[in-house]
Amino acid sequence: MKQGAELAGLTQQDLVSFVETLGEPAYRGRQIFAALQHRRLRSFDEMTDLPKELRARLSEVARPATLTVESRYLSADGTRRYLMKTHDGFPVETVFIPEERRDTICFSSQSGCPLQCTFCLTAQLGLLRSLTPGEIVEQIVIALNDAYGVGVQPPRGTNLVGMGAGEPFLNFDSLLHALRVMADSHGLHIVPNRVTISTAGIVPRILELANVSDRPHLAISLAAPTDELRNQLMPINKRWPLEDLLNACKEFEKTLKPNERVTFEYVMLEGINDGEEHARQLANLLNRHGLKAKMNLIPHNPADPLPYRPSTDETVDRFKDILESKGIHVYVRRPRGRDIFAACGQLAARQGTPMNRVEITSIGA
Ligand code: SF4
Repeated sequence: MKQGAELAGLTQQDLVSFVETLGEPAYRGRQIFAALQHRRLRSFDEMTDLPKELRARLSEVARPATLTVESRYLSADGTRRYLMKTHDGFPVETVFIPEERRDTICFSSQSGCPLQCTFCLTAQLGLLRSLTPGEIVEQIVIALNDAYGVGVQPPRGTNLVGMGAGEPFLNFDSLLHALRVMADSHGLHIVPNRVTISTAGIVPRILELANVSDRPHLAISLAAPTDELRNQLMPINKRWPLEDLLNACKEFEKTLKPNERVTFEYVMLEGINDGEEHARQLANLLNRHGLKAKMNLIPHNPADPLPYRPSTDETVDRFKDILESKGIHVYVRRPRGRDIFAACGQLAARQGTPMNRVEITSIGA
């Protein structure tokens, strides 16, 4: 693919500066920003409000889009998974989850992931590379265009979760830049208040995010109530153990808005971290730090060759009851898109033939 500036990751101001370097007036930059982010166009040819000569010039020096969709999968529950490729051949996965009140798009921040969480299929890819701001923004544009048509406004609004492949806080600057681009009211207009970023526990970045004025919500993947168990399940814990992690969350909590809470995600693995003792330890851990957190229990999504099985419904209910009896707010997350390998921890650039899959091969996005 031809090289050139990646326009999808530029803010409106960046685009104005960019067109000025080409000797064009500032309003052309604003026009291109609206074409990319509001009308969600992915080629210069479609930007027919620009003079033909300018379109030709732009195609020599810039790229309006760089991701290509390799395949997409439609779950029986309406969830869609997109397997895309970067211009240099790395896989990127995105999941669109239709919901009654708002749709949610789960995007990736890296291709693969350097962390080694043992319950996650993505870990097995290792880190291939971090994604650029444009590659993060493009995932949202592609999913919305596919779900609703090019440029059509989503009827229910869109929530974003940074819970796809990769550790978002190891690609912090690109992530924040992409969020700034997407928040612009002349573009996608998805404000940070509609975005939740999940981290495995990169403590310095949690503290840094606390000082970002217009920031997304924070979620922490916890998975275990003790260092001993968490070291096994999430080796990043050896670098930043639970005490450091929860102290950082406590600092973060000081900056929360009224009614905002830090969310903890707890993947439930049968016979590993789902016992009554674990539930008590978990409640004590949060209460000892005085955290007014929200706990999401996520039954594990099985995927070969991961050695785990999901906790039974009864175990999850019992676990929930114990946490609630100790004052913790608990939600059980219903798995979405398991049949197309789109659920939490299942993203690993799979192209196989999961059951119930409907593959759609052409995509106009
Ligand atoms: S759970 Fe998240 S941080 Fe851990 S390996 Fe998977 S993608 Fe990476």
